Amino acid sequence: MLQVVESFGRIGEENAFAVLARAVELERQGKSVISLGIGQPDFKTPPHIVEAAIKALRDGHHGYTPATGILPLREAVAADIHKRHGLEVSPELVMIVPGGKVTMFMAILMFGEPGAEIIYPDPGFPIYRSMIEFTGATPVADHMREKNGFAFSAEETLKLITPKTRLLILNSPANPTGGVTPKAEIDKLVAGLEKFPNVAIMSDEIYGQMTYDGFTHQTLLAYPQIRNRLIILDGWSKTYAMTGWRLGYSIWPKPLYDAARKLAVNSYSCVNASAQFAGLAALTGPQDSVAAMVEEFDRRRKLVVAGLNKLPGVSCVSPRGAFYAFPNVSKTGWKAKQLASNLLEEAGVACLGGPDFGIHGEGYLRISYANSAENIQKALERMNEFLSTRKAA
Ligand code: PLP
Repeated sequence: MLQVVESFGRIGEENAFAVLARAVELERQGKSVISLGIGQPDFKTPPHIVEAAIKALRDGHHGYTPATGILPLREAVAADIHKRHGLEVSPELVMIVPGGKVTMFMAILMFGEPGAEIIYPDPGFPIYRSMIEFTGATPVADHMREKNGFAFSAEETLKLITPKTRLLILNSPANPTGGVTPKAEIDKLVAGLEKFPNVAIMSDEIYGQMTYDGFTHQTLLAYPQIRNRLIILDGWSKTYAMTGWRLGYSIWPKPLYDAARKLAVNSYSCVNASAQFAGLAALTGPQDSVAAMVEEFDRRRKLVVAGLNKLPGVSCVSPRGAFYAFPNVSKTGWKAKQLASNLLEEAGVACLGGPDFGIHGEGYLRISYANSAENIQKALERMNEFLSTRKAA
């Protein structure tokens, strides 16, 4: 009998990939499926970025790079943060990683162990909880409430901190809800955190450039009083439609940087060299494709929210960021996951049940509007037909 270590019995995953596989299988059988399930832009990576990667390969960039990434890219990340936020970050604290996920993997490995508590948003990105459980730490769910627009409440978050808390995970703009935490609330949270100097903070800001309706993203980097214990998770996947390139970055407090570098050396060595050159072109080249993509997402956001609010038993608050809507379906009579499953199998609409994002996700669906306006319209019609004719199972 093979004896895999016990912690692998606790590792979770993302149901989005299973739903995608099932949608592909249904399509293979000849059924029509509209995918509102997966969290990636439906746009192509802008051509100048693709060309930069091809050029890097032609120029002979075929070898290992430093484990923390090529210096010009780390400098470009620092310059980009300065341009967007007016804040100074040393390139020596920037680490290039293979996708945004890797930062959370590393940070949770650094702080999670039996007896430790880690606070994470719920509903939230499922890998937070999965990794916390993997390390044996206790996951402490921070309820993101619909009445707060799914934003953090400083008061509620601070109340969850105990002497055992090692790490607090923040995510704004958020997956799966589209919640964006206002600056005033983050100010309050940071002020409260000053009383807990032993708590590290990981701020997942991967959707930072995708906000709407005048809401803006407040980076945690703007608070010098917590910089010595702040980890920033960001990357290219969403902003530049580069999910398949596997390119992200973290900003570490100085004492943690070397530990992160060693994790890289012990696992992936460095990020694919040509992808790093693509990332450099993304940050230093024209940004109009980012603005165009966000504008298009905003158009679809309005379409999807208006359409969802017309469905029987469904209500949906306007998401302020990312490209997800998180409608409340509790009045349909369906359990959320059962509804998502039936919508896929019977109506040909792929979306995710709220419980895929935590215990507080019951009663909600996650709809990714990273699909064409035409397909979104068709999906809404299919959902309407389904909910109007089909009794709850
Ligand atoms: N953080 C959040 C909140 C996400 O939604 C995602 C991807 O869906 C990631 C991180 C991971 O991004 P990447 O694909 O770059 O690993």
